[in-house]
Amino acid sequence: MSSIIKILSDSVINKIAAGEVVERPASVVKELIENSLDAGASDIAIDIEQAGRRRIRVTDDGCGMTEEDARTSFLRHATSKLTDDADLEAVRTMGFRGEALSSIASVSQVRLLTALKGAPSGTLVELEGGAIKSVTDAAAASGTTIEISHLFYNTPARLKFLKSAATEFSQIATAVSRQAMANPSVRFKLTHNQKPLFNLPPTTTVEERAANLYGNEIAENLLELDGGRDGIRVHGLIGRPGYTRADRTYQDFYVNRRAVKNTSLSHALYAAYGDMLMRDRHPVGFLFIELDPALVDVNVHPAKTEVRFRNQAQLHDLVRDEVREGLRAHGQPGQGGPYAVGTSAQAFYADRVKEALTDFGDRISEPALQISHMHHSQEEYFDTHSEIRLPQASPLFPLAQIHDSFIIAQSREGMAIVDQHAAHERVLFEKLQDQAKSGTMPVQNLLLPLQVELGPAQGNLLSEYLPELVKIGFIVEDFGNHDFVIKAVPALVVGADYKKMLLDILDEVNIHGTSRRMDGLRDGILSVMACHPAIKIHRHLDRKEMEMLLAELFQCRMPHTCPHGRPTIIRFSMDELKKMFKRM
Ligand code: ADP
Ligand code: MG
Repeated sequence: MSSIIKILSDSVINKIAAGEVVERPASVVKELIENSLDAGASDIAIDIEQAGRRRIRVTDDGCGMTEEDARTSFLRHATSKLTDDADLEAVRTMGFRGEALSSIASVSQVRLLTALKGAPSGTLVELEGGAIKSVTDAAAASGTTIEISHLFYNTPARLKFLKSAATEFSQIATAVSRQAMANPSVRFKLTHNQKPLFNLPPTTTVEERAANLYGNEIAENLLELDGGRDGIRVHGLIGRPGYTRADRTYQDFYVNRRAVKNTSLSHALYAAYGDMLMRDRHPVGFLFIELDPALVDVNVHPAKTEVRFRNQAQLHDLVRDEVREGLRAHGQPGQGGPYAVGTSAQAFYADRVKEALTDFGDRISEPALQISHMHHSQEEYFDTHSEIRLPQASPLFPLAQIHDSFIIAQSREGMAIVDQHAAHERVLFEKLQDQAKSGTMPVQNLLLPLQVELGPAQGNLLSEYLPELVKIGFIVEDFGNHDFVIKAVPALVVGADYKKMLLDILDEVNIHGTSRRMDGLRDGILSVMACHPAIKIHRHLDRKEMEMLLAELFQCRMPHTCPHGRPTIIRFSMDELKKMFKRM
């Protein structure tokens, strides 16, 4: 019988490897930037077309390659960075596996133009599907330009797995941003379809890099951190106590300047903030860990983004303690997040109740109507609303508020506990929804328009979504250069922190991407808007306020959950209570 086992051809082997190294356009960008950094570049330009599907070009002013090296670089396991086992124990370069170029080349068309410093001319290598098509002498500036076209053209299955252009490009921008944060002394330029996204000047500090990359709005809320022990240094930037975000976009960990994913490090950051974090809020942190390369294994995954530490637990505790120390040194821990009781929000709710009462006086005795139809004037209200939803009595009768946070109420069948924040969020959310749908969103002009300086990525995102925000009453003007001014806000959110609200809205837009339908995104934005002015926990409510809130809640279409899907009410029937007390 003849043997059935065969050795795979190089081309198949490379495609298999490519599956691990090159998951998507952003992985190509990451690998190419790493090569430029390893080549000692001080200026790296990344030009993307069609979210990287059509073209990815990375140009650097690094050491360049000889003609021979330029050819060899595309061979599998060809690397100039390792020679023996000992080197693998102490990797100090970004690359070391010699796999990236061969993997990338096997699933794309490549043009590599490279020249050594001071050389009169350079080399142009062209490849298709991993095979060298031509090698010629060519005029070239010193450094390397590598152009990847039609990624995955010969692996249609992988092409199908790519997400929308917006999502793929945002992954690319994230990959570039990570490298830019780790290398502030290197100039990074990023363009998409010829449109410049950023051009970050070289700087000596990561703070300045953060300001150029993410805008002053974030940079002003960052604290510097530098500490460590036992030969391990932990430094970087963390968010002030109380400055948190709606997602994890602004969390990066670097080990010896390599951006890594590591659940233990991420856990340490959350642990440091502890109960300063409110539910669904995420800390900001750009943390750099510098340690002996022998204490960390970066060779866990072909993409080199996962690492394993010799002493994981020790490092976890060190990072947690250093972040805690950083917060203690600069801030006032225990102050609570943006969702802690804000006096403006308290005053807001109280004012609204007063306002409603003066507007409607005692002409309407049902308290529910007073709150739900509050307007700056009665005329305005009747202008914009042709029909009034008749208030119905709430099926819950409030008895008391516990710890200024939850309402205890009697229901027909037993008792109920209501989360006052979640309930008010639901009420505001549905009102905002109704106003947005009717196209007559009452807005409040700001006496003093608020200036917001964003970073390039966020700035572009906001420019793109401005028309949508304007439609829902959040009137922001674009002053160019990623500077914006908030001019008016929906009347229902008056009194909230508008800047924070705007940043949270951008996070929401980011989370949704453009893959979802606009409807879903709009509700996402409205739920962010509802969250900010909603009454917080630790806010005292008197009987009348509780009655109003419950009555309003039961006018909602979906009174039982907040807009984020969490419960507003927990009920206990008399039978359940009796069972608990062993009466049944
Ligand atoms: P690795 O980075 O793991 O060594 P790669 O496949 O990414 O493997 O690159 C192979 C080799 O090609 C590198 O070791 C380096 O010598 C050379 N090389 C790649 N990109 C560049 C560049 N931009 N400038 C100079 N040399 C480069
Ligand atoms: Mg490499």
